[in-house]
Amino acid sequence: MDISLQQVGYLYGKDTPFEKRALHGVEATIPSGSYTAIIGHTGSGKSTLLMHLNGLLKPSEGIVKVGDVAIHAKTKGKELREIRRHVGIVFQFPEHQLFEETVLKDIMFGPLNFGVSEEVAEKRAYELIKLLGLPEDVASKSPFDLSGGQMRRVAIAGVLAFNPSILILDEPTAGLDPRGRKEIMELFHYLHKKENLTTILVTHSMDDAARYADHVIVMHDGTSVMTGSPTEIFGNEEQLLAYRLGLPKTVKFQRDIEKLIDRSLPE
Ligand code: ADP
Repeated sequence: MDISLQQVGYLYGKDTPFEKRALHGVEATIPSGSYTAIIGHTGSGKSTLLMHLNGLLKPSEGIVKVGDVAIHAKTKGKELREIRRHVGIVFQFPEHQLFEETVLKDIMFGPLNFGVSEEVAEKRAYELIKLLGLPEDVASKSPFDLSGGQMRRVAIAGVLAFNPSILILDEPTAGLDPRGRKEIMELFHYLHKKENLTTILVTHSMDDAARYADHVIVMHDGTSVMTGSPTEIFGNEEQLLAYRLGLPKTVKFQRDIEKLIDRSLPE
């Protein structure tokens, strides 16, 4: 399922004294099956944009197309809910949303509420426990007795329990140490391949974008300023490799692109 954005604009608090423009004229395509990174400064519109990709927000202007479904300012709730079945979002610190008595119940909660049978939901939950590298005996444990890394994996399993074809990751490594970051990014890379997911990574880490993505969208001041393959965005093969390997970057790169990206934040 391709996603396309055509002249998308968004205003928070539209027609109120607090009206604030967050997006304008966004043009982008996210090809089906791609691993797309959306990179940009804090405040450049990344989070607002991703909420348009699963129907949490409707554009004030323009059209967002997810497969055959077009979302615009007048789209009704029913169509938005339809999109949410196909598009899963892993928000920052997803483990904060765990609440059930056991890991198994937590992973099954969403599908059961969507009318999936107990048998099917349970089978998928055990499959995900395995897929995410969790020990099988976590199923009967309280999610709150697990380590931080395991809790995050359980929360990710809860999103995958819906069998989404598109998975959106909003700064998924926030708050993790370098080892935890690498583990979770490798896990998403594995899931991207194994589950045939279209993966959309929202990040301010250009190193992660260079390492994992095959398509990049650069956001700046509420609009898409560059889109393309990693080599197009990062300059050339050598430049891309420098990023992947953590080598010093060239002046050209800093001048052309780093000014668009906020690297001052802790990663
Ligand atoms: P990013 O995810 O790149 O940090 P956001 O999408 O969060 O960017 O923000 C884009 C712009 O919209 C910013 O100027 C931000 O202050 C503004 N904004 C974000 N959320 C709200 C909100 N709920 N109400 C008003 N303005 C908002």
